[in-house]
Amino acid sequence: MKYIGAHVSAKNGVNDTPLRAKEIGAKAFALFTRNPSRWTSKPLTDKEIDSFKTNCQITGYTPDVILPHDSFLINLGSPDSQKLHLSRVAFLDELHRCEQLGLTMLNFHPGSHVNQIETDDCLDLIADSINDALDQTSGVKAVIENTAGQGSNLGYAFEQIARIISRIEDKSRIGVCVDTCHAYAAGYDIATPEGYESTWKTFDDTIGLKYLSGMHINDSRKGLGSKIDRHEPLGKGTLGEGFFSMLMNDPRMDNIPLILETPDETIWAEEIAWLYSLAKA
Ligand SMILES: [Zn+2]
Ligand SMILES: [Zn+2]
Repeated sequence: MKYIGAHVSAKNGVNDTPLRAKEIGAKAFALFTRNPSRWTSKPLTDKEIDSFKTNCQITGYTPDVILPHDSFLINLGSPDSQKLHLSRVAFLDELHRCEQLGLTMLNFHPGSHVNQIETDDCLDLIADSINDALDQTSGVKAVIENTAGQGSNLGYAFEQIARIISRIEDKSRIGVCVDTCHAYAAGYDIATPEGYESTWKTFDDTIGLKYLSGMHINDSRKGLGSKIDRHEPLGKGTLGEGFFSMLMNDPRMDNIPLILETPDETIWAEEIAWLYSLAKA
C-alpha cells in the first residue's frame, strides 16, 4: 500500500495539518512544527498538542505516515561554532516538538561545509550533532534527506549518507528520505528503467533499503546531474510520467510516507489522485 500525501501548511497551527491533508485525499503528510525560517519559536501549547492528536485520530493518520520537516536554517555540519551551536539547539527543539506531538520521525537536510571544511569532516560533524540530539531524546527517528548538491550542501551522494549513518550510535533511530528531484539533480538517472533499477541497487548496496523511511515525490525542473534544486509538478519536469509509474508499482516504496513538495498546492489533490491511478495492483 502506498501512503501518498503532501507537505501541508501549518499557518493556522500544527493542530490543523491533519485536516488540511484529509481535504486533498492524502494518506500521509508532512508539516513544519515551527517557523522554518526563524531560529526560535514559541513552545507548543498543551491545547495545540491535544488538538493535533485528536485531529490525527479523527482523520486516521498514525505517526508512521507523518513526516515532519525541520527548519531551513539548521546546519548540523556548520564549521562556524556559533552557528553549529544554534543549529544543535534548534534541532533538539525540533525533536522535542515531535516527542510532544507523539511523532516518530524528523526529516532534515544533512548540512553544508560552506567551503570552509573538508567534506568528510563536515559529514562527521553532522553525525556528532545527530548523536548528541538522539542522546537527549527518545522515540523519534532522525531521517536524513538526500540533497541535489546545490552550493555546498552535502548528502547528494549515497556514500555521504552512508558515512553519516556508519557513525550513528543508535542505528534504530536513523533513517533516510529520498527526494526524487534531488536524486535526479544529483546525477542518479531514475528516469529510465535501467537507471531506476541501478539507482535503487546502489542505494541498497551503499546505505541499505532498511533505512528508507520516507520519500519526497517531486518532478525536477532541471536535468540529470544539474545539481539545481527546483521542484516541478508531477509529469511536467525532466523526470516525466514514466518515472512515477515505475515508482507507484514498486513495492519497495510501500508503507512509508511519500510526500509531495510540488510547487502548485492547488493541484495536490489531482497529483495524488493521478499517482494512485498509475498503480496497477
Ligand atoms: Zn525534499
Ligand atoms: Zn528540494
